[in-house]
Amino acid sequence: MKVKDPVCGMMVESTRAPAQGTYAGKTVYFCAESCKRTYERSHPPDPR
Ligand SMILES: [Zn+2]
Repeated sequence: MKVKDPVCGMMVESTRAPAQGTYAGKTVYFCAESCKRTYERSHPPDPR
């Protein structure tokens, strides 16, 4: 499934996403770890 990286707007394949995280119960995929870190500045990740 193709999903959009919310940080840079790039489309990423969810099964091959270099980085992902869960925020408010929703899994978000990123094109790179750096985009994930940027996203986490404004969206705290869910506790495990
Ligand atoms: Zn990105």
